Amino acid sequence: MYRKYCCARFGIRHEVSREEGMNLRVVKRRPDEQLDAGNRYRFYVTPGYRVGQEVQRLNIRYCPFCGTDLYGFYRSDKFVNEEPDIL
Ligand SMILES: [Zn+2]
Repeated sequence: MYRKYCCARFGIRHEVSREEGMNLRVVKRRPDEQLDAGNRYRFYVTPGYRVGQEVQRLNIRYCPFCGTDLYGFYRSDKFVNEEPDIL
């Protein structure tokens, strides 16, 4: 069985648009912004936002639904759903 996401609930929150309620954004940080060279991606919970708006965000490491270590599980650009300039 092919599993794209760690769990269905993460997938649902990841696929909604940025404006749409609580959602999960994955950002690939630029090299100079990476605190840890081993972790290129950052994971945020946000309440929904528009481009250009100041965004409230919570940086997370573990899936809030199933507890998976996101740094270990999501290691591909195909999961990136936001640009570093925006979030
Ligand atoms: Zn999960």
